Amino acid sequence: MKLLEERIRRDGRVKAGNVLKVDSFLNHQLDIALYNEIGKEFRRLFPSDRITKILTIEASGIGIACIAAQYFQVPVVFAKKSRSINLDGGVYTTGVRSFTHNRIYDIIVSAKFLSKDDHVLIIDDFLANGCAVSGLIELVKSAGAGIEGVGIVIEKGFQEGGRRLREQGIHVESLAVVDAMNAATGEITFRR
Ligand code: 5GP
Repeated sequence: MKLLEERIRRDGRVKAGNVLKVDSFLNHQLDIALYNEIGKEFRRLFPSDRITKILTIEASGIGIACIAAQYFQVPVVFAKKSRSINLDGGVYTTGVRSFTHNRIYDIIVSAKFLSKDDHVLIIDDFLANGCAVSGLIELVKSAGAGIEGVGIVIEKGFQEGGRRLREQGIHVESLAVVDAMNAATGEITFRR
């Protein structure tokens, strides 16, 4: 998605440890005009009418999923990162290794909001090693629901997550795939 790549080039900041900061437009301050284009593009890439729910993970995925959901006309469910006193009844849960904090945390979804009749589109801001998305896939499988695909705003193509997921036959669409980035020069190159 050209608009997104241009924005990443202009406003993205490459940090040590293979971290790309996009917090001026994607995950701290949010550019809603850009979010809208992202939502439309996900709809174009996942035209299936079978999708019944969008699943994401707090916090950065929520805004993206909500704007996208307006083009799918389905509810958004987000996995919580800690056990909440508000989650009564059964839950689906699994452990995920955090890319940015390098620790394991639990993600949780109430069993009320995912069922075997659901066809789920997973959406997240970044795909790096694939731990977050794999955790979400686990939750979908625990519910007996189907996975329609995975929509990612920025995939870091030099990390393993995208390849691993595609090898499992999962339909992954990333709006921008970063092939390389250099913390010293700030240079970012995209997959063509
Ligand atoms: P993964 O689980 O695929 O290794 O990493 C994906 C998760 O880690 C995303 O949910 C995202 O929040 C965070 N993440 C991974 N890489 C980056 C990055 O380069 N920049 C930012 N801002 N977040 C990242």
